[in-house]
Amino acid sequence: MESKDLDVEIIRSSRRRKTIQAKLVDDVLKIYLPENLTKREEEKWIKYMKNRFLKKRELIGSEKHLVERAEKINKKFFNGSLDFTIKYVSNQNKRFGSCTPEAKMIRISDRVAKMPSWVQDYVILHELTHLIHPDHSKKFWEKVNEYRYSERAKGYLIAIGMNRDEEL
Ligand SMILES: [Zn+2]
Repeated sequence: MESKDLDVEIIRSSRRRKTIQAKLVDDVLKIYLPENLTKREEEKWIKYMKNRFLKKRELIGSEKHLVERAEKINKKFFNGSLDFTIKYVSNQNKRFGSCTPEAKMIRISDRVAKMPSWVQDYVILHELTHLIHPDHSKKFWEKVNEYRYSERAKGYLIAIGMNRDEEL
């Protein structure tokens, strides 16, 4: 989970009076800044842009991990029969995960990425099961409870103050 530093190249342009942009080109972060910034403003923007890109890169890295995990769970609990897209989102403040069965889309809050792996697996399994059982029916829980840490994970989520069924 280390985040390596980024090489940065600053491009100052008098034509870009207001727009500040950054893009990654061959592992170098090119930051376009207007010429009229003070040294301090410049430093502030460089720091901001670097942080933003490092965070994004970290998330993409862990998303690969998320997909692999979800595939493992798919194999183990559904014989690999599920077809879905799974990704992290950072705008889900009240929910840990959501599933849109019609679109076969699962969204996991990026806060889950920082939780213990057995809790992550529970959240993933919970959402994967919604592809088949959209509600929290008896059949739904029968499937979810095949995972031996389900109860423990539910307890964990309750303990951090967020586990009502509607939040998953
Ligand atoms: Zn649910």
